[in-house]
Amino acid sequence: STVTTSKRIHSLSPRLANQIAAGEVVERPASVIKELLENSLDAGASRIDIDVEQGGIKRLQVRDNGSGIHADDLPLALSRHATSKILTLEDLEAVASLGFRGEALASVSSVSRLVLTSRAEGAEHAFRVIAEGRDMATEVSPAAHPQGTTVEVRDLFFNTPARRKFLRTDKTEYGHLEEVVRRLALSRFDVGFTLRHNQKVSLSLSPARTELEREKRIGQLCGSAFLQQSVVVDINNGPLRLHGWVGLPTFSRSQQDQQYFFVNGRVIRDRLVAHAIRQAYQDVLYNGRHPVFVLYLYVDPAVVDVNVHPTKHEVRFRDGRLVHDFIFSSLHRALAEVRPQTAQDATE
Ligand code: ADP
Ligand code: MG
Repeated sequence: STVTTSKRIHSLSPRLANQIAAGEVVERPASVIKELLENSLDAGASRIDIDVEQGGIKRLQVRDNGSGIHADDLPLALSRHATSKILTLEDLEAVASLGFRGEALASVSSVSRLVLTSRAEGAEHAFRVIAEGRDMATEVSPAAHPQGTTVEVRDLFFNTPARRKFLRTDKTEYGHLEEVVRRLALSRFDVGFTLRHNQKVSLSLSPARTELEREKRIGQLCGSAFLQQSVVVDINNGPLRLHGWVGLPTFSRSQQDQQYFFVNGRVIRDRLVAHAIRQAYQDVLYNGRHPVFVLYLYVDPAVVDVNVHPTKHEVRFRDGRLVHDFIFSSLHRALAEVRPQTAQDATE
């Protein structure tokens, strides 16, 4: 490849600047879905419908019934560093939304063919904006749409062949995408989701409010076998509560692919947490086997500081020891109670 250097400094075109930023946020269809779903959740949607073609590479669409976007704001929604979620540094420090950087739509629209259609709460009409041309110029036109927002993304990386090369088969990309949907559906029982791939419904989850409905969703997302071979944990201890489903040792897997842990509603991956869980299973699992679990830790932020970065899957507890020991002892106890039964079943 050739490297062109100009001796003078010039500003990058908005599109190129966005494409460079996209390199960090947009890796594959699954990362696009994550950003779009987080926007829908931030908009207070109670229903989200996802439509995917060819693993999401050809086309993916997210429709929600959230608060929508004001017609005049539509071009801004696609421009970089524009957000409705924070205004000040104080807001940033107290941010509760999943997004706040105002980069996702700008990034995605610079590497795909994106159409954003929205009708704001209380507005009589819907409008649509399409990003086009070199400089991210946008064009707003009237459209038909109920309250809420639809984002359609076609031909991901059509104009960035180097990135397109890294995409895998439709099947693999779809697998990643479905996993993102699964995770978010586990984090928000109150929201209904449907997921279609190549016109076929692959997930249809109605909002779950009762314990029974939540259990049904767990069954739909993790399989009914897991539901049958798991115990429900629900333990309170001062500022900490651990709730969820933990698989019996007989339902272990050879991979760590079905382990979900949420802290105050957000999915996280944390070494301290992972260690506590591993320890709790240590006596009851064969070497090389991994437990299956869907666990929700609620931490009173007033007592135990949880520093969760909105865009990262990391968490920092002020009192890590307390959290670790609580998780360990809760699970250890729950598993000990079912041990007599599992010892018989453990035939593999
Ligand atoms: P961020 O989420 O970090 O603010 P995005 O680029 O993802 O940045 O979105 C830009 C803005 O567009 C958001 O701040 C929000 O105001 C608006 N927006 C995007 N998607 C939706 C949606 N589904 N419903 C309502 N507003 C949305
Ligand atoms: Mg966002």
